[in-house]
Amino acid sequence: FVLLADLIKLQIFVAPHQAIEPDIAARVCELHGFIFEREKREKGGGVHKIEEVVVEPAAPQDEPEDLLQLRPPIITIMGHVDHGKTSLLDYIRKSTITKGEAGGITQHVAAYKVEHEGKPITFIDTPGHAIFSDMRARGADITDIVVLVVAANDGIMPQTLEAIEHAKKAKKTIIVAINKVDLPSANVMRVKTQLAEKGLQTVDYGGDVEAVEISALTGVGIPALLELLALQAEVLELKANPKGNARAAIIEARVQPGRGATASVIVETGTLKTGTPFICGPFAGKVKSLINDRGESVKEAKPGTPVEVIGFDEMPNVGDSLVEMDSIRAAQKLADERQLDRRNDRLQLTRKSRMEDLFSNVIDGTGKAALKIVLKCDVQGSVEAIKNAIGDIKSDKVNTQVIIAAAGPITEGDIQMASSADAVVLGFNVKVEANAVKAVKSEGVQVKLYSIVYELIDQVREAMLGLLEPLT
Ligand code: GDP
Repeated sequence: FVLLADLIKLQIFVAPHQAIEPDIAARVCELHGFIFEREKREKGGGVHKIEEVVVEPAAPQDEPEDLLQLRPPIITIMGHVDHGKTSLLDYIRKSTITKGEAGGITQHVAAYKVEHEGKPITFIDTPGHAIFSDMRARGADITDIVVLVVAANDGIMPQTLEAIEHAKKAKKTIIVAINKVDLPSANVMRVKTQLAEKGLQTVDYGGDVEAVEISALTGVGIPALLELLALQAEVLELKANPKGNARAAIIEARVQPGRGATASVIVETGTLKTGTPFICGPFAGKVKSLINDRGESVKEAKPGTPVEVIGFDEMPNVGDSLVEMDSIRAAQKLADERQLDRRNDRLQLTRKSRMEDLFSNVIDGTGKAALKIVLKCDVQGSVEAIKNAIGDIKSDKVNTQVIIAAAGPITEGDIQMASSADAVVLGFNVKVEANAVKAVKSEGVQVKLYSIVYELIDQVREAMLGLLEPLT
């Protein structure tokens, strides 16, 4: 349970005995002062279980620190619409490549890496807040520094404030780029005053927020901005171990003719190589090829590097992580587990909106609508408690009738019973068996899963009350 609690802290939700990725295991080991060692596979094959990992105590700071190397900072550009985010990204990309490479940069990339005086910096080439919050919501918190673009002629606008909120909440370093200083109407002082009012005191106003005056049109100030980003990266001491298991965040995914499903990723740790088996959300795969931000085929990508990955069977989700696995078999096993879990989650979601429809269609002999329920719970104690609580909900328009109340997972038989009786299936702390999942699809039965008693009761009550309106 201590380990499960650790996993929850890392925003990883697993059931007991469920497999986890090696790099997650490594993070848990780290928390307890251990280093994670991958099980050595015996010659001649043999069944390989990723749960059986060998951990050895290690003095913290011992080896791991040696293995860490500086990596490029990952930058997200945010700001109000039309303040020049796209122009800035374009300018940086175009101005930092040499002429010979110009042909390679015409195609769209989701992220690119530039070098400023020998120091690499990675930019996510999708401006805006949506990607930032979407990725964070999915646990892919890869941005190191937010560049907040504020147009000097316009000043702080609603989306500027939103960006500040997002960046602050995520505890990101903010660097302000005061853009469009080439315009006669530019008013840098006003922008700085407005920033200070919002709690972002720039250095010349006695605060600690760095601000640079730039023009994404003429390029003025952009080298200074890059310099600042490189410096800030040094201050933040951004490091990763290029030798560990590779982990990369998906920042864009699409289907391309001739390539199938591909994804743009930024490598977070380890070195992603061609031939590597991986898990990515609910899908297993193997890296077929890697293409860098200049459109060239490469064999590997190091931490902080953006790269396009070919080798997905299905299109992955933005924000999911691609994680190296020891074998395609281990990856497939984990993928199967995750797909089952997702199916259960989906059932829960799609059923929610339809539960009410069901009640209103069924009128029993007393002239009341009837809500028939198949109730499955983890233990007999909850079966009784929930059954009684449902019985206690009083309504003069709806009767409830629990046709099955038992402990155990939701089975195919439960679904069939529910189907023939027009009942809804309520599960409390139980899983839906694989066969039952199939039956749900074919029978069109509604299944709702809960882990909190009062939520279950409340939803039954709400559905019953909601029914009163349409019926009268
Ligand atoms: P975004 O919505 O923040 O991505 O803004 P864009 O990059 O699309 O820029 C909006 C408009 O402002 C475009 O017409 C740009 O040409 C213009 N623009 C962007 N940066 C500058 C700048 O530094 N100076 C001037 N004069 N115009 C700029």
